[in-house]
Amino acid sequence: MSFNIAIDGPAGAGKSTIAKKIAAELSFIYVDTGAMYRAMGLLFLRKGIDPKNAAAIEEAAEEAHVTIGYENGEQQVYLNGENVTASLRTETVGNMASATSVYPGVRRQLTVLQKDLAAKQDVVMDGRDIGTAVLPNAQLKIYLTASSHVRAVRRYEELKAKGMESDLSVIEADIIERDHRDMTREVSPLCKAEDAVEVDTSGLTIDQVVDVVRRLYQERAEVSV
Ligand code: C5P
Repeated sequence: MSFNIAIDGPAGAGKSTIAKKIAAELSFIYVDTGAMYRAMGLLFLRKGIDPKNAAAIEEAAEEAHVTIGYENGEQQVYLNGENVTASLRTETVGNMASATSVYPGVRRQLTVLQKDLAAKQDVVMDGRDIGTAVLPNAQLKIYLTASSHVRAVRRYEELKAKGMESDLSVIEADIIERDHRDMTREVSPLCKAEDAVEVDTSGLTIDQVVDVVRRLYQERAEVSV
């Protein structure tokens, strides 16, 4: 049976950084589910669909085919056969993904793909609903958090490092809005699974968080053999 590690939490809590490091250490596959929702978001942006138009979003989602693959160990996302990985990390795409991930038609096909990936191999999968809806039987579930201010500062520094000017208060307001939407949507809202271990990363370095997750993995791996 494959070993599944589910990492959930709000935007900017450090999920992808931690998940990637742990996956590399354990030689597990890293699955970034947010990128799949972003690929759907990109499609809706390209088609010029209003995210509030539920019928149009559901119809477009039916025609969309999102798949993933790996190149040099990095996840690639394909939208109807086109590699769209390089276009997914903008704020515009992130906001569209957040606004449209509330629709059951969008979630359904991505969830099927995610479950299938985890059934076949050892994975570290990050997202919002992995421990609660996608992999309820994951052997290890982590819920990563950090204050909205700390998360906004991280995002601000990330953009600065890329030479992009931004406004910290706008980023923080955006994060708070996205948290609210992710936590209050009807289908698979972001919440901590009952059996997840909560780790607040606000005052921790990346290496300290990786240490915590590694220790938890070692404990669970011993029990599950
Ligand atoms: O993590 P990332 O910022 O790339 O995710 C983009 C958006 O996709 C999130 O704001 C969230 O609304 C949605 N998402 C989701 N379920 C997941 C992963 C992401 O609803 N498992």
